Amino acid sequence: MEKRGFGNTRVAVPVLGQGTWQMEADDRASALRALRAGLDVGMTHVDTAELYGHGQVEEAIVAEAISGRRDEVFLVSKVMPSNATYAGTLAACERSLKRLRTDWLDCYLLHWPGSHPLEETVRAFEKLVADGKIRAWGVSNFDVEDLEEALALAGPGRIACNQVLYHLEERAIEHAVLPWCEANGVAVVGYSPFGNGSFPRPDSRGGKVLGAIARAHGVTPYQVALRFLVRRPSLFAIPKASREAHVRDNAAAASLVLTAEELALLDRAFPLDAEPSSLPVI
Ligand code: NAP
Repeated sequence: MEKRGFGNTRVAVPVLGQGTWQMEADDRASALRALRAGLDVGMTHVDTAELYGHGQVEEAIVAEAISGRRDEVFLVSKVMPSNATYAGTLAACERSLKRLRTDWLDCYLLHWPGSHPLEETVRAFEKLVADGKIRAWGVSNFDVEDLEEALALAGPGRIACNQVLYHLEERAIEHAVLPWCEANGVAVVGYSPFGNGSFPRPDSRGGKVLGAIARAHGVTPYQVALRFLVRRPSLFAIPKASREAHVRDNAAAASLVLTAEELALLDRAFPLDAEPSSLPVI
């Protein structure tokens, strides 16, 4: 699996990772098999959050999937904005570490901008780094204004990533967030790469283009989509899959090579909409 430097951290992280949102509703044995198969094929970036299943995904699924293999995993979790005071962030991290049965997180994110002062969250993140509880921190669903605030508080080189909504039919980050992150060494982790299950229909205009490119390479439209979404060195994607076959399909997308012409065809088939007034979230 291809790896890339994760923003300013320079830690080599696989371009394709594994999401875990809503996994508490899936068949647990299947989800565990899928996550472990993903680790086997190098999808070692595992994304979770205290929010997911109210802690159940961390505790009953991710902890189990990574058990005995912690050193292989680039483990990411997130604090909810409602917990993101200074003391609340420290406490939330401790709870996540306990549920995940680990001593450290590779990256800890603020799930979305909230009402507690960002200064407190950033201070708590830096304390967690100093204490060895997290190796790096980042943000999620941050628009340029929020990123500027975080940068002013933390200084350059501290924000590891911004995790944002990014799929073929939602490319809003390309207007301003992606260029800002690239200029500031912040990795861009695209979430919901398959639109949270709402993938372009095969008979739609875009779906036909996807299908034709997929057929030409003997791969699936999902693989073509993933490859498009990580076409720039700053980009990572974290598809969620509870079925082993889906995980294997997704992992193989990392070795797919699309031509410049195919990328241009996809770019036209799923055009960038006008810049929205605020960053879309799921
Ligand atoms: P997604 O990855 O866009 O789509 C997941 C759906 O696609 C599932 O139904 C899955 O099926 C299916 N799927 C996966 N691989 C497939 C394949 N190769 N072929 C056909 N279908 C396939 O959904 P998501 O969960 O919204 O996003 C991914 C991750 O991003 C989340 O799990 C979470 O970790 C993160 N996220 C973060 C935020 C945030 O605010 N920071 C928000 C949303 C999501 P099966 O499960 O049945 O295999």
